[in-house]
Amino acid sequence: MTDEIHLTGLRAYGHHGVFDFEKADGQEFSVDVLLTGDFSQAAQTDRLDDTVDYGAVAELAAKIVSTERYDLIEALAARIAGAIAGTITIPCTVSVTVHKPSAPIAHDFADVTVRASAISHGKANTPTRAGGTSSEQRITAILSLGANKANPRGQLEDALHAIDRLPRVEVVHASGFYATAPVGGVEQDDFVNCAAVVEAACSPRELLAALQGIEAAQGRVRDVRWGPRTLDIDIIRLTAADSDIDSPDAQTTSSDPILTLPHPRAHERAFVLVPWAEIRPHARISHGGAQILVSEAGSRVQAAEPAQTVRRLD
Ligand code: ATP
Ligand code: CA
Ligand code: CA
Repeated sequence: MTDEIHLTGLRAYGHHGVFDFEKADGQEFSVDVLLTGDFSQAAQTDRLDDTVDYGAVAELAAKIVSTERYDLIEALAARIAGAIAGTITIPCTVSVTVHKPSAPIAHDFADVTVRASAISHGKANTPTRAGGTSSEQRITAILSLGANKANPRGQLEDALHAIDRLPRVEVVHASGFYATAPVGGVEQDDFVNCAAVVEAACSPRELLAALQGIEAAQGRVRDVRWGPRTLDIDIIRLTAADSDIDSPDAQTTSSDPILTLPHPRAHERAFVLVPWAEIRPHARISHGGAQILVSEAGSRVQAAEPAQTVRRLD
């Protein structure tokens, strides 16, 4: 059964646009949210926990419009859709339309709208041992970022800023940038990679959704044609904020395909291990029943597979 929840005409003042005056002065935006899914359980139980709290959805969308800044409403719409999808507890499709009725166009016009969608898998699968939700929860994560389109380094710099601007997320430390050979057999340009430690006051799934929103936003901003993704952000390791992020014993584990932790292929990738070791020199990883330093793991991968070149950029 498919039901719909509509939230329309949510107005908020924001500073999005490619022109300096748009960023300086701001203008009014309006947002419509359409949630499509099976909300039949709520119809039977009449309980708020069984459906979507649209007050919270409105709050989140308005906050993003008013506190974040994007050049394009494509990016804004994708960001809102991703963020909503990461916070609601019912599996559904989230469609977000952003209206920019005062866009700087030198003709009479009624409105400019852009729509973006995201899928919410529901939070039933949230891979946290502690359970609990969102803002109560504090987590630390190691992220691996990669890009191989024109100006990939700029992509990563933009992404790090975007992550740091996320509400409730802070980039504590980022590595330098590394030029790395592509791995996996697909013929393509070299990558630029980096790693970052982030602290967040949200669930692991909310963090992933927010990061995917940034991937989508940058893909849309920079990619004029349909093509490969311009930015990849993976969560490599995640712990509760008061646990030791350097220890494989403390990490949250999950076999959920939406968010598998630790990242199942990180240990075989020099482009993940080497930047990670730069920011966390004492980090350890499980290896054949023992623990070795992440830096040592990176050296071993490179020794075994010389094609995995990793060169630090200035
Ligand atoms: P790889 O995972 O081998 O690096 P990829 O990064 O190119 O491949 P994507 O297409 O970016 O793969 O992601 C596919 C899916 O992986 C995403 O939709 C996401 O839900 C899921 N995923 C599972 N675990 C993680 C994780 N630890 N970090 C990021 N995404 C993850
Ligand atoms: Ca990846
Ligand atoms: Ca990925």
